[in-house]
Amino acid sequence: MRVKMLDLTREYRKYRKEYVDAINSIFDKGNFILGEDVSNLEKSIAEYIGVKYGIGVGNGTDALLLSLKAAGIKEEDEVITTPFTFFATVETILQLKGVPVFVDINYDDFTMDLSQIEKKITKKTKAILPVHIFGHPADMVGIEKIAKKYGLLIIEDCAQSLGARIGERKCGNFGIAGTVSFFPTKNIGCAGDGGMVVTDSENFYRKVKSLRVHGSTEKYIHEELGYNSRLDTLQAALLMLKMKRIEQINGRRREIAKNYNLKITDKVKKPFEKKGYYHIYHQYSILTEKRDKLKDFLKENGIDSTIYYPLPLHKQNAVLNIIKKEYSLPVSEEVSRKILSLPIYPELEDEEVFYIIEKINQFYD
Ligand SMILES: *Cc1c(COP(=O)(O)O)cnc(C)c1O
Repeated sequence: MRVKMLDLTREYRKYRKEYVDAINSIFDKGNFILGEDVSNLEKSIAEYIGVKYGIGVGNGTDALLLSLKAAGIKEEDEVITTPFTFFATVETILQLKGVPVFVDINYDDFTMDLSQIEKKITKKTKAILPVHIFGHPADMVGIEKIAKKYGLLIIEDCAQSLGARIGERKCGNFGIAGTVSFFPTKNIGCAGDGGMVVTDSENFYRKVKSLRVHGSTEKYIHEELGYNSRLDTLQAALLMLKMKRIEQINGRRREIAKNYNLKITDKVKKPFEKKGYYHIYHQYSILTEKRDKLKDFLKENGIDSTIYYPLPLHKQNAVLNIIKKEYSLPVSEEVSRKILSLPIYPELEDEEVFYIIEKINQFYD
């Protein structure tokens, strides 16, 4: 059997008619930038997360960049974050000439280790940037307490976690900003690039909204330098359809994860869901000493798997060349050596899931 990491054509085949209708309706209106479809999606996602405002932007990276900029991050400002994330989290801090300050991660859920944050706070610290990596929420209750105590802003990288929650409170609801990505591979993905900033603050909302259109609130009048970073109307129309199915989409991922959890051998370390947390399994990632051999074995049996992430960000030349600081973050480094992500997406068939389980267990027999 051949099992790809992700096959987006399956979803399209299932919903082709409604997608084509949505695209046609945009062409019928002849309006391709912002407009009603984008503001409807902004409202829908803000409401879903439980905040007042959403601002559709060009992609998840820009959602981070515009949020950091609106939060006032500038030269030498320190932002405490995780090295175990996609590059954009740290790239955007550096692009504003801010300084990423890394803390290590938990071995269980791969999110920031709460116990290390306070030690890293200095006079220059402005913000904490947790990432709900793979769809498991970071310890936001603890992070919120620390941020309050030291007067720091929180920006949540929710690129992999739309719909993840702690109790009833969704990711993106804790910080001054939550940043969402609609890159096609994310849990709610569009047909190209797309992103969103969510916030409960009117002031912050106004800033981001201005930044996405060249620092302008009134056409051709510019108060500051901004960006051209808007969510396409076509993408918003498609995303609106997917938002209607979000619980179903995340629910199916959880169902697949449950099967993996129950049936994959305990010889590998399986993902962990903290009590009271709702993991949305953007990735299902196992840890094993034999990672590379297992990956090859799966490949020989037609099964794709991916290493997210092979090199933590504190070891990346692009970062080291700027921050000129050596970190030793043993958990991130160990996880990068042992981690392997298995196929998980709503249209993955049970038959394929069981085949993957069978082959992994066969490898360890
Ligand atoms: C995907 C991703 C981003 C960037 O989103 P894009 O839409 O690809 O720009 C940022 N952070 C994390 C954790 C991501 O997974």
